[in-house]
Amino acid sequence: QSQELSEGRIDYHAALLALQEHGTRMVCTGKMHTDRICRFDYLCYCSEAEEFVFFYSNSSVMLPNLGPRRFQPALLDLSSVEDHNTQYFNFLELPAGALKFMPKPVFVPDVTLIMNRFNPDNLMHVFHDDLLPAFYTMKQYLDLDDEARLVFMEGWGEGPYFDLYRLLSGKQPLLKEQLKNFGKLMCFTKSYVGLSKMTTWYQYGFVQPQGPKANILVSGNEVRQFAKIMMERMNITGQEDTAKEGDGTEEEQEKEKREDYIVVFSRSTTRLILNEAELIMALAQEFQMRVLTVSLEEQSFASIVQVISGASMLFSMHGAQLVTALFLPRGAAVVELFPYAVNPEQYTPYKTLASLPGMDLQYVSWRNSMEENTVTHPDRPWDQGGIVHLEKEEQERIQVSKDVPRHLCCRNPEWLYRIYQDTLVDIPSLLEVLKEGLKTRPSVKKNKAASTVHPGRVREPQCQTSVQATNEAKLTVSWQIPWNLKFLKVREVKYEVWIQEQGENTYMPYILPQLNYTFSENIKPFTTYLVWVRCIFNKSLLGPFADVLMCRT
Ligand code: UDP
Repeated sequence: QSQELSEGRIDYHAALLALQEHGTRMVCTGKMHTDRICRFDYLCYCSEAEEFVFFYSNSSVMLPNLGPRRFQPALLDLSSVEDHNTQYFNFLELPAGALKFMPKPVFVPDVTLIMNRFNPDNLMHVFHDDLLPAFYTMKQYLDLDDEARLVFMEGWGEGPYFDLYRLLSGKQPLLKEQLKNFGKLMCFTKSYVGLSKMTTWYQYGFVQPQGPKANILVSGNEVRQFAKIMMERMNITGQEDTAKEGDGTEEEQEKEKREDYIVVFSRSTTRLILNEAELIMALAQEFQMRVLTVSLEEQSFASIVQVISGASMLFSMHGAQLVTALFLPRGAAVVELFPYAVNPEQYTPYKTLASLPGMDLQYVSWRNSMEENTVTHPDRPWDQGGIVHLEKEEQERIQVSKDVPRHLCCRNPEWLYRIYQDTLVDIPSLLEVLKEGLKTRPSVKKNKAASTVHPGRVREPQCQTSVQATNEAKLTVSWQIPWNLKFLKVREVKYEVWIQEQGENTYMPYILPQLNYTFSENIKPFTTYLVWVRCIFNKSLLGPFADVLMCRT
């Protein structure tokens, strides 16, 4: 394997000389360990010590040079999960002169992305923590291209979804375990260490109960572009493409294109839907659509994605398999089912995904509220929700509780007990929440995104004032349309004007359709007003305020 890596692709002696003379060079982005990604020349890894090594010399570079703060708590997070103390990255320092006494290094010529997978056994974690962050970290650094090498340092084996990680680059990813095979000292000619957290939308509850991240920076657009490229790499043809392939008449093709269907994502080992057949019949009848089932136990992942990418609705028990909602077409609906005593409001990774701006998915949750319809598993191991290891009193408390109280990740026995229940889905109550929750009938929308273009500033804002009487004044504010509006087709253009009397800490807001307005109510003579104006597209796309106007009556 070391042959494959080094042979003929780099000048070994030149590389060794460069390392000996210049040592390691590191330049990072980010102010904190939680938002840092570092780029290295000649970062080395010593497999014996299981440590990365920074060789310093007169011409090595280390930016930021944190001194001992590099250990408080770490240089950076190796996974996309924020500040998790099992995921920290650091290196040891050695003088470049020490190379003389060390085994001959093996050089890795590929540009390498070094990262940790957070939980490669769980599909939600695979997509949310690893694939999306790695994909967009690679977009951030141009030389992390199709030829880039990924190195996973968390120390796990390949795991059940390794084929998905293989889609990120044309080169086989390396596991920590395999680094040994390259000899005792391995030096990455060019590498990036760490993952962008820009695309993550959920925090799992390590320090506060789980929920959407406080500051989500990703939109459905980026998630959909990622999904599209992953599908291409899995050789899955999108819906539009399959429709074209049919050789029937245009009308037939049109019909085929529109054949809406529902997918039930079934779990076969835990958290079961006990009356799946009944559910399928009921859905087919209610929506007059074909209902297909998929499961990770029975199908290839690619074939599941193929089916989901054309579905109008996706039904599933809460669980990692629901991350596949990111492959649903625009206009589709996600229906997430929760077992007894689990509050859907508190477990929202898939709701948050479906609700990202521009994802264009509807989301509905249903919760089993009938205790007689739940099947618990107190005798199972603790990690599948068993509770027999707990004290009798605690077991009894859990068994009569009707709601899992808020809790931290990851081993709360009451949570595990409830989330691993099997459920007999009460069809009438499910149909009821669908009726209430679905705003429009879900259907595959043309692959066209709703516009998310924001207005520019309004131009040439001005005010004119006049005093009518000792207690009466007028304030006329006018402005021009934002510069980008003339290039856009916008359904509704409105303007918002805020008027604040100088020195007061409240303001009066107005929404107006036109480009000027004369205010006379609440306008006092001989008073200075501060006036802000901004444009709003389609009720929710807010533009920036123009420079504040000072208007003296
Ligand atoms: N899983 C599955 N079928 C099952 C149970 C689990 O395919 O019957 C998958 C699930 O999608 C996830 C992994 O196994 O990728 C771990 O499931 P677990 O229940 O531990 O986690 P959760 O789904 O609650 O995130």
